[in-house]
Amino acid sequence: MPSSLYSPCNTCPRKCNSNRNEGQKGFCLETLDLRIAWAGLHFGEEPLITAKGGSGTIFITGCNLHCAFCQNYQISQRGMGSTVTAAEFSDICLKLQDKGAENINIVTGSHAIPVLRDYLIEAKNKGLAIPICWNSSAYETPESLELLKDVVSIWLPDLKTLNPIISQSVFDAPDYPKVAKTAIRYMVSNTQTIIKNNKMLSGVIIRHLILPGRLDDTKLVLEWFKAHADGKSYLSLMSQYTPVPFDETEMKKREKALSSFQNRYVDEQEFGELQNLIDEYNIQNGFYQELVQDTEWLPDFSRTQPFQSSLAKPIWHWKSGFIE
Ligand code: SF4
Repeated sequence: MPSSLYSPCNTCPRKCNSNRNEGQKGFCLETLDLRIAWAGLHFGEEPLITAKGGSGTIFITGCNLHCAFCQNYQISQRGMGSTVTAAEFSDICLKLQDKGAENINIVTGSHAIPVLRDYLIEAKNKGLAIPICWNSSAYETPESLELLKDVVSIWLPDLKTLNPIISQSVFDAPDYPKVAKTAIRYMVSNTQTIIKNNKMLSGVIIRHLILPGRLDDTKLVLEWFKAHADGKSYLSLMSQYTPVPFDETEMKKREKALSSFQNRYVDEQEFGELQNLIDEYNIQNGFYQELVQDTEWLPDFSRTQPFQSSLAKPIWHWKSGFIE
C-alpha cells in the first residue's frame, strides 16, 4: 500500500524527495516495495541478543548510507533481495518465533521505516510476541524513530564515527555524526533497560566498528559514550573489520573512500591500545569482540546459507522463499 511518507520521501536525513509510491528511487535505491534478502536464526550477535535461541534476523534490501567498506554490499548496494507482502513478512516473523528466536532483529531498515512499522504491527496482531530489535546505522530522523517507538523494544544502533571528514569520505554524509548522536540520544532517553536470564528484553546497545588506522576516532566515540550513554546503555566494540574482495570496477569506485583509513584487519597493536582505552574510560556495561583476522564474518547472500554454519540457521532466502 502506498505510504504518504514516501511521496515525497523524507524518511531519512538524505531527504531525496523522490516519489517512491510512483516507483522512483532515491539514494537508498528502493521504491515503496519492502524487499528482503535473508531471514534466519543468527548466533553471532552480542550475548544479550543471541541468548540461547539465536536472534531472528531479517536483512532488509537497500540502505540509506552505503558505506564504502560494507560487507553486506550485495544487498545494501546491489539490490539482492525480493519483495514481500505484509502477510509474507508476518509469516517469516512467526516462523522465526516458532523456531525459538529470542527476538526479531531488523537489519538496516532505516529507509523503509513507514512500511516496516505497518508490517511489524500486523505481525504482532497475528501473534508475534518476542521483542523487536532495531539494528541500524543510526542515520535516522527523530520523526522516523517516533514511528517505531511503540513497536521496537531493543535498539542496536551503530555509532560509526564522530569525525565528519570520515563520514563524508566513507559514506557521503558529513552530517552523520550530528544525526547519529541525536538518534542515539533519542533511543537512550526513551528506553528502559530490562534484562532477564541474560537476555535483553528492552534496552540500547551502541555498536562501534573500529576502523583500522583510526583509533583516534574510536577514542572520540568512547568519550561521547562515557558522557552521554554510560550506565543507561551498553557499548559493543567490534574489531571484525574485514577488507571486502570487491571486483575491479567496484574497487575503483571505492578507492578514494577506502584510503581515508587503512583497508586491512585491525592489528594486534591497535587491539592492545583499544583494551587500554576501555580501561581508561571505565565503561560500566559493554562488550568487545576478540580480535578477528579472517573472512569468517564475510557473508555471501547469493547462497541460502550466507554465513558460516555455526553462525546462522537459514529460514528464508530471497531466491527460494522458505527453506524448510
Ligand atoms: S529513505 Fe531513501 S529515498 Fe527516502 S530520503 Fe532516505 S535515501 Fe532518500
